[in-house]
Amino acid sequence: MTTHADCIFCRIARGEIPSRKVYEDDELMAFHDIQPSAPVHFLVIPKVHVENLYDADLQHQQVLGRMMGMIGTLAREQGLDDGFRVVVNTGRVGRQEVYHLHLHVLGGPDPLGSGMPRRQ
Ligand code: AMP
Ligand code: ZN
Repeated sequence: MTTHADCIFCRIARGEIPSRKVYEDDELMAFHDIQPSAPVHFLVIPKVHVENLYDADLQHQQVLGRMMGMIGTLAREQGLDDGFRVVVNTGRVGRQEVYHLHLHVLGGPDPLGSGMPRRQ
């Protein structure tokens, strides 16, 4: 499995940097965002280093499918029974800050803002 020495999420996946873990198995991991944008805000990452959805391809389909397939279970465990939002920032235009693919799962007791950028 390809991991990068200096990538912060690879380091979290290797256990070198502590995280508030939500879930972990051989292929993926979920942990709470360090700067939450909602009352519940966790990230789901593959352990393999893939920069983003632009760089992902069909060799990643199993882990990407498992990440999507886990979200409902993890959301239920976090009490997000009334719904949540999943965000995947990609590249400069998507304002990605950490270049290791991650799904943001955001929720809480109240409806979130619209989240859809308006056309200019
Ligand atoms: P983005 O790349 O813009 O989709 O967002 C990266 C997210 O990673 C931000 O919401 C950060 O707060 C979060 N983040 C950065 N470092 C850590 C860390 N060590 N533990 C948990 N979350 C982090
Ligand atoms: Zn990485």
